[in-house]
Amino acid sequence: MAQASCSRLVLVDALSYDALMRVTALLACTLTLTACERGGPSGSPADSSAAPPSSAPPVTWTAPSVAAPAPTPSASAAPSAAPAAASAEPPDAGAADAAPLADPSRLTLDRSAVQGGLLRAKLDGKLRKMNFPGHRAVVSDEGDFLIAFGRNAPKQEKITITFEDGQVLERVFDVEQRTFETDKIDNLPKDMVELDMPTRVKLTQAEQKLDAIRKKYTKKTCFKEAFIWPSKGKVTSRYGQPRLLNGTDGGIHWGVDIAVPVGTPVRAPACGTVVFAEKNLPLSGDTLIIDHGQGLTSTFIHLNGFAAKVGDEVKQGQTVARVGMTGRTNGAHLDWRMNFFEVRIDPELLVSGDK
Ligand SMILES: [Zn+2]
Repeated sequence: MAQASCSRLVLVDALSYDALMRVTALLACTLTLTACERGGPSGSPADSSAAPPSSAPPVTWTAPSVAAPAPTPSASAAPSAAPAAASAEPPDAGAADAAPLADPSRLTLDRSAVQGGLLRAKLDGKLRKMNFPGHRAVVSDEGDFLIAFGRNAPKQEKITITFEDGQVLERVFDVEQRTFETDKIDNLPKDMVELDMPTRVKLTQAEQKLDAIRKKYTKKTCFKEAFIWPSKGKVTSRYGQPRLLNGTDGGIHWGVDIAVPVGTPVRAPACGTVVFAEKNLPLSGDTLIIDHGQGLTSTFIHLNGFAAKVGDEVKQGQTVARVGMTGRTNGAHLDWRMNFFEVRIDPELLVSGDK
């Protein structure tokens, strides 16, 4: 009985796009098996390797200070999600030398940088240009923008901001490096670790659809709210944990798993618009996505039906769905993932101290 060895109530997981490229994974624990949809395609090839990617071309945004849809061509052409191991790009050397330095207080941040973390940033003054290799930044009319650090973000990353008045501000982020405990699960039936081809194809199609949704930019400002837990319960699996299934690479678990019974309400962690709600996706089962604005989304999987539909504007705390155990899962739980565009971030860091 392959069921005896799990100490956790719920184990999950997952896969996705990379599933095609590698042996995939799912795991199982006590009763059943859970699969959480895994890593975002665009973001994750890099995210799932141990070393920071060095091949990702730096992305330089000449962002207008008005909120405009993020430039998508380069986003899709380049794996912009991966915080590029900033390949010492000459940051406007000439200009910076000549330009007057801005007072550092013209860039404010709500917290310090950490792998998997999201920072809310604000500029004092109109932006002319921003150089932030590997990042996608879209500055709103009010000067707000978000900064995400991926799971494998390097120790230091640098942003160079040129204001409309010509002043230049440089900031080096010291990114807190985390360790992610490996989830090791053995004695799984083979069909739980490997997917058949039809499932892989369906999975890839579903992932592409979800990725396209997550890459959209909207002006909504719900990202400003202090996030709350969508359901409260024991956290049984966390963001960023590598999975080792029957000794083979099972990918990275991107969500926070909260063990709660089937039927438990799933509440919007912040306001937003429901941009996706579909049943029976491969592995992730009933899946719902809320857009919180400016590239920030929440994804909930393994649900048991919805209490909101696509296009609905929801308030923080509003019930949007019910917890379930749809898709491949080994028990009832809520799996909550968050993205900044294609970069996977850690929901727990946004609600820390809230519970
Ligand atoms: Zn999960």
